[in-house]
Amino acid sequence: MKKLFGFLLFIIVFFLMNIQEAKAVEQDEREQMTVERMHMFQHMEGLTGVPWYYLAAIDQFERNIQKVRKDIPGKKGIIAITVPTRKWSGFLNPMQYDTHPSSILFFNGLGRDGSGDGKADPENDLDVLYSMARYISEYGFTEDDVRIALWEYYKRDKTVEIISEFAKLYRTFQTLKLEGHVFPIPLNRQYNYRSTWGYARGWGGRRIHEGTDIFAYHGTPVRSTSYGVVEVMGWNRYGGWRVGIRDLDNIYHYYAHLSRFNKDLKEGDVVKPGDVIGYVGSSGYGSPGTSGKFPPHLHYGMYKDNGIKEWSFDPYPRLKAWERQEKKRKRDKK
Ligand SMILES: [Zn+2]
Repeated sequence: MKKLFGFLLFIIVFFLMNIQEAKAVEQDEREQMTVERMHMFQHMEGLTGVPWYYLAAIDQFERNIQKVRKDIPGKKGIIAITVPTRKWSGFLNPMQYDTHPSSILFFNGLGRDGSGDGKADPENDLDVLYSMARYISEYGFTEDDVRIALWEYYKRDKTVEIISEFAKLYRTFQTLKLEGHVFPIPLNRQYNYRSTWGYARGWGGRRIHEGTDIFAYHGTPVRSTSYGVVEVMGWNRYGGWRVGIRDLDNIYHYYAHLSRFNKDLKEGDVVKPGDVIGYVGSSGYGSPGTSGKFPPHLHYGMYKDNGIKEWSFDPYPRLKAWERQEKKRKRDKK
């Protein structure tokens, strides 16, 4: 029996070590891909004059939507941008899957040869990126020019807004590596929360509860959980004083019922994980300034955009994970 136990223990330890190893390898590969991606963006900026962060923003947006959409095939390779066939070849091109640069050009298609092999291949990373950069460069290089190019391409205001926000994040931090999260309430403060997503609302309204309530004392700091851009800031009938922040996963983080904002923060600002955006309160459910209709808490909501629509999902599992990771980081530091 003892021998069997020892053997089983050996198997388990061996197995766990392999998982750790695999995780480390995966991490290395992802970092390597990020480095290569950055090189490609900068290379294309050199060729076309389109700032790298716009290309990075479009690429990241498309990577995000491919993960949650069934109607778009996930592109293989380092670059996620997928140009629809008709756009690539030209709408009137009789060859729907054309890779000849000259005939694509003739039919006003978007496809170009960026790799120098004489073919405009929508599966080739360099071709795709070069084609997108050339398309944008036709509109110009200012922020407004790029926004118009993006609107003509995607025909959706929200998509233009999200890509512009991504570009701002990349431009501000000058890197593609903007990961990491924190729990919205500083861990040394008193707070408590449980999974309440989808419950009937306790206070007014008949909509389901689209978030997690984190109860804490009035005035407790509220921190941005991720890198992001402040998309919305102000009064909302239900949420009271609230802040909406968009991150690089197309996720909109909604912080509601604040007692006040961080005075230095405004719409369009860039934040990083841990930045204080406001303070816990009990504002909401009435005209601007209404407060005290319920105990102070942070209502934290998460909404995902797939390039067509936005929907709410349960933030509880993520909150738990960020809380755990942050505790671990603190322990490891000691
Ligand atoms: Zn709530």
